[in-house]
Amino acid sequence: FDPGKYLPEIKRYWANHGGDALYGLLTRCFVLVNSTQSRIKIVDTLVNLLRILIEGDPASLLPAVWLATNSISPPYISLELGLGGSAISKALKKICGLDNSGLKALYDKHGDAGDVAFEAKKRQSFTLRKPKPLSIQGVFQSLVKVANSKGTGSQDFKQRIVERLLQDAQGAEESRYLVRTLCQHLRIGAVKTTMLIALSRAFLLSRPPNASFPITLQSDLIKLKKESLAETYSRGEELVKACFARRPNYSDLVPSLLEIGISDELLVRCGLALHIPLRPMLGSITRDLGEMLTKLQGRDFSCEYKYDGQRAQVHCDKNGKVSIFSRHLEVMTDKYPDLVSLVPTIRGESVSSFILDGEIVAIDPVRGDLKAFQTLTNRARKDVDIGSIKVDVCLFAFDLMYLNEEELLNRPFRERRELLRSLFVEVPNQFTWVKNIDATSTDSETVLEFFKSATDIKCEGIMVKVLDNLPRSILSQSSEGEITKEATTKAGKKTKSKSKANEKTGDRDKGTRRKALLATYEPDKRLDSWLKVKKDYNASADTIDLIPVAGWHGQGRKAKWWSPILLAVRNPETGSLEAVTKCISGFTDKFYQANKDKYDESSDNVIDRPSYIEYDGHPDVWFEPQEVWEMAFADITKSPTYLAALGLVDEERGLSMRFPRFLKIREDKSIEEASTSDFLAELWRKQEARAKPGDGIEEGD
Ligand code: ATP
Repeated sequence: FDPGKYLPEIKRYWANHGGDALYGLLTRCFVLVNSTQSRIKIVDTLVNLLRILIEGDPASLLPAVWLATNSISPPYISLELGLGGSAISKALKKICGLDNSGLKALYDKHGDAGDVAFEAKKRQSFTLRKPKPLSIQGVFQSLVKVANSKGTGSQDFKQRIVERLLQDAQGAEESRYLVRTLCQHLRIGAVKTTMLIALSRAFLLSRPPNASFPITLQSDLIKLKKESLAETYSRGEELVKACFARRPNYSDLVPSLLEIGISDELLVRCGLALHIPLRPMLGSITRDLGEMLTKLQGRDFSCEYKYDGQRAQVHCDKNGKVSIFSRHLEVMTDKYPDLVSLVPTIRGESVSSFILDGEIVAIDPVRGDLKAFQTLTNRARKDVDIGSIKVDVCLFAFDLMYLNEEELLNRPFRERRELLRSLFVEVPNQFTWVKNIDATSTDSETVLEFFKSATDIKCEGIMVKVLDNLPRSILSQSSEGEITKEATTKAGKKTKSKSKANEKTGDRDKGTRRKALLATYEPDKRLDSWLKVKKDYNASADTIDLIPVAGWHGQGRKAKWWSPILLAVRNPETGSLEAVTKCISGFTDKFYQANKDKYDESSDNVIDRPSYIEYDGHPDVWFEPQEVWEMAFADITKSPTYLAALGLVDEERGLSMRFPRFLKIREDKSIEEASTSDFLAELWRKQEARAKPGDGIEEGD
């Protein structure tokens, strides 16, 4: 792609419009994205759009990124459009000259409000006034105005904005995507990861006209060897993802990119900040204690109770102002006024500001007994009055990410924990540390005892966290004192090269072949340095959390239901859902009926073939992806039909599973938390390792 060639043609999208890129450009991108199932093409299309804006109209870049990701603010800033479906219907009727029955007929035929707007606009035979072309910035500002309008008269004000937007839409496609945006249901599959990949690539290839930073990949450099190009891309992606994990707000990321491009300085600009949540680190699943001990061989680790409550990221500044955020970055400060008044008092003398991570658990305030998660759900969500609290809680702290204006993410866990426990003050039954023991893989009996004690007091199991950046054997050789990043990297390399040598000589010492597990806090990552072992994991049967995405008409007794049902894993890199299996087992008739009611052909839950699902077959209906099912299975097989995890264990075949069986709906999980293709590939590798005991589980390392 050479923007030099492309720009003149593209310029028609903002000629005669004061330099602002037109909304038509964004719509064109949405149409292209929707017309392909190829993730490579989707990313390329987005990259092209972003490059055009970076080079031609940088001011429209941020609004375009918000619109393409179907949001106008990050989760921690509550900016809701607050538009009911009726506002959109009313506007469509007025602008396109439809009556109630005409509109209903379109809804009955198309289901999706965007498709209805497309048809209505196509049939429009008159205009109330001459439409003024919409610009990307104009549309975004209109949405912000809608979201900010509150109080009396706001509904009329919002209605007028919606009508003006639909009036000015140039043609049917613009109407379709405008309405989808207004319903907050864009359906282009440009999820967070895709956008971050596209942003990083676009900035490796382009820069704004007035910027002085160098373009990393000049066009002649593109002739670079494939591997070095891939390496540059992946470094850029890692950097942009790391920034977004620390500051999950495009309004922070995009202006910095426009100013300095892909540079290490980005991490400083998008560093942690008080009252802005970072994306929390998450735990990797292990099947049982045995697997956990194998994974952490040679390492010192902390086993902690895994409390069954609500994740809380607590920020406190030097003035004692407190913010509390959920795992999904929503503000929960209003829900916990008791903690808000408590938190400033837990600071020891030398603490002024901090960000800590912990779990809020319902508790008996006198005896200190833990209560079930359900008890906590009885708390109101907002505006809780401190005097009327009926469910008492305790905050169990387990990590410290920021202290007195300094980020601690790169410090090893042992050090962060030491700071937390030595500088903060416990308040019985209100603020304390998670219960823990420190151990190594040779302490299996102690760990088992600890695991049992956790489950005895209604904990979900244990979390196991690596304490130091280096294995103890290397630590004892290195000089006393701080472990620097440099030392860590060197040690990582040492371990790797030794590992190669060992493989050659046939020495299968697992400890030396294992990749270095760092003890740093890695926002938004699920790594082996944080493992979870839950009490309900069953050593003999893995389960997987899949998303139902399509169905076929059943046969015989099941003719009135959907059976089989197609299920998919998530590919967080590309944002697509990859079909993995069809399931006909484990469902009750009652479940089948409920499923049919939910995914009735006339409902909004049944959609056109989505571009973001990787599957070549032809189901009778496509489900709107929205739920997660926990599934059991006999084993995982390579498959020419299913494309899940394609390229992860086999270049030409994906993975599927034999005898899949439905276990339950995971009400507690959103589709962003369904199992990934990486997880599926990992299960396959484990299965292969179990089948051939001679090849240790590190074979895939
Ligand atoms: P799953 O997604 O498999 O259902 P989950 O919802 O429990 O698991 P995980 O990421 O798998 O989420 O587990 C980590 C969660 O466990 C954290 O988000 C936190 O809420 C909770 N937790 C409880 N105790 C701890 C602890 N000691 N350390 C870290 N997290 C803990």
